[in-house]
Amino acid sequence: MATYIFGPCSAESREQVLRTAHELKQVCANTPFIFRAGVWKPRTNPNTFQGIGEEALAWLQEVQQTFGLEVATEVATPEHVVKALGAGIDYLWIGARTSANPIAVQAICDALKANVNAKSKAILIKNPVNADAALWLGNIERLEQTAIPVIAVHRGCNHKPCWSMAHTVRLARPDIPMLLDPSHLSGDAEQIPALLKKVQELGLDGAMVEVHCCPEEALSDAKQQISPIRLRDSLDPILSRLCLASLICPPNPSKELEWLRAEIDELDDQLWDTIARRMEVSSRIGEWKKAHNVAPLQPERFRQILAARQLWAQKSGIDAAFVEQIFDLIHSESLKRQE
Ligand code: PEP
Ligand code: MN
Repeated sequence: MATYIFGPCSAESREQVLRTAHELKQVCANTPFIFRAGVWKPRTNPNTFQGIGEEALAWLQEVQQTFGLEVATEVATPEHVVKALGAGIDYLWIGARTSANPIAVQAICDALKANVNAKSKAILIKNPVNADAALWLGNIERLEQTAIPVIAVHRGCNHKPCWSMAHTVRLARPDIPMLLDPSHLSGDAEQIPALLKKVQELGLDGAMVEVHCCPEEALSDAKQQISPIRLRDSLDPILSRLCLASLICPPNPSKELEWLRAEIDELDDQLWDTIARRMEVSSRIGEWKKAHNVAPLQPERFRQILAARQLWAQKSGIDAAFVEQIFDLIHSESLKRQE
């Protein structure tokens, strides 16, 4: 059974938390979900909203009592662990910034082990902000010291998916459930419906989605949050396809081809980004050449480029003629921009 976690990026006010939970409960009548809200927010800039802090834990308790929902929040320090567990929060997650720091993750593990009176039902670990599969895997291992079930959350890096990193972790630890966080992975509410389709396509174990009763008024991550109604519209086709898939597919069909294709899409995206940036630099070179009366075509420079790229090709076992063709194409497009 898939795990879904919905709720706002941050708990902003009692009204916003309760209204979002109420609307979610209405639109997700047949889809069990855990309610999320960040209380302590690890924000990039100190002049932005940093979260309400401890006071907001009471609003999550109210969500538990009023709507019978389980609740989740992010912890970044041992003190957060003690306060959140003390308030009866059901699930804790470790965010991407904390996940990049093994000392901080270990301190959280130690606090989880020391807290014998209350336990998180599972501990969720997002991928680190940098695409480091080994660090993510190391964090999973660290958290296993607590004997609490561990769930990985793929939230991408720099608002892009890192399918290659997620695939590495999936292959190394097929026993650890993995959720998709399309909100942080894209930073863009418009991309959420398409990204949610990846849950089924890649055989993931669910999703964590940022949902806010008034996304445009959100105090953090406003561009990526969606309203409960939009969540319902994004989820409907996926959930009905999931039901159908469970009827017609054999259990645990291999998703290896889908993962490899996701890796290819990620690499093509990087390739495209690199080509676009190369063209931009090429235009700047064109301006410099014009200002200094230098002809766009510099045969000696092109010979040097080709020779260097041929060496790369040799080292990586790629056909020399293919490399020549590619760089011929790139170079002639660059020249066009310099004319
Ligand atoms: C969040 O889930 O609100 C959050 C801060 O996520 P991340 O750590 O992935 O940036
Ligand atoms: Mn957020």
